Amino acid sequence: MTKRVVLIGHPVAHSLSGAMQQAAFDELGIDARYELWDRAPIDLADAIAELHGDDFLGANVTIPHKERVVPMVDRLTEEGQATGAVNTITREGKRLIGHNTDVPGFKVALDHLVGKQKMPRQAVVLGAGGGARAVVYGLITEGFQRIIVFNRHLHRAEGLVKHFARSASHMELRAMPWHESIIEAELAKTKVLVNATSIGLTTDESPVPAEVLHDELLVLDLIYARTQLLRDARAAGATTADGELMLLHQGAAAFTLWTGQPAPLGLMQSKLAEARAGGLRSAEGEPAGDEAAEAAEAAPATAE
Ligand code: NDP
Repeated sequence: MTKRVVLIGHPVAHSLSGAMQQAAFDELGIDARYELWDRAPIDLADAIAELHGDDFLGANVTIPHKERVVPMVDRLTEEGQATGAVNTITREGKRLIGHNTDVPGFKVALDHLVGKQKMPRQAVVLGAGGGARAVVYGLITEGFQRIIVFNRHLHRAEGLVKHFARSASHMELRAMPWHESIIEAELAKTKVLVNATSIGLTTDESPVPAEVLHDELLVLDLIYARTQLLRDARAAGATTADGELMLLHQGAAAFTLWTGQPAPLGLMQSKLAEARAGGLRSAEGEPAGDEAAEAAEAAPATAE
């Protein structure tokens, strides 16, 4: 029987996870099909219930469902539990297990961005959704001592901080209101800036004005594209990286969870690069085809 893995999001359009995961299944001779399921929040529980079927190896979960799906699985791994967000589901018999492979994906991207420098200890995180939770947990476990989270809706950032109260009890994790002057003041004393909002995903907007960026910054945008933020940061002399490595490594970790086999990283990376040549971005911060752009335009609030 051909096994199935599904990406559940809203919208999912022409996700590049499909291209990279299907190529990996085919390369290793695994009889499995990667499907895209566009499911609105109201239909999420039904979609998750379907995964109990024997034909499913598991699923990926993407915006806007990563937090909402948590109570719908039977068990959470340590990272799923710690973040309160799930991006990968596996099946153990009839039980669904919720994982968060964004955490290891983010750590690879952070290590690469920092390079040979000493790992900084202070970070500013923009955003408080599922992606931001993986980022904050990754930073805490990397040994960061001060993390400031800015979010459009402050209460969501406060909820995130509350969620991490125990794992961050030894350090300073704070939510702050989204005011330009406060962001500027924080960036002046910070080395790492991570954009975990979806600002820049479907438009050429940047979450922060170019003037607040400086040349000491290491800037990571989770969006897999050359966003306005990254262009401004480059112009300010900062070191920058987009979401490619995170996307690749979260996908590779998910592949191994579903199949028990090491992921063909080189192949997956070249599939992403091929698709990136399209130059557009889909719901996961990836470049995609025209239909993805149309879908994103039709539903600009995909990150909500
Ligand atoms: P969520 O829907 O969970 O969160 C979206 C975040 O963006 C929230 O903080 C939201 O703020 C903020 N936001 C959205 N629109 C606006 C706006 N117009 N102004 C200000 N803030 C806004 O999504 P995720 O956390 O799952 O994803 C966030 C981004 O990270 C996406 O672009 C996604 O592509 C990327 N990502 C990339 C990954 C990779 O592997 N490279 C992995 C995970 C995520 P509010 O709460 O106030 O609505």
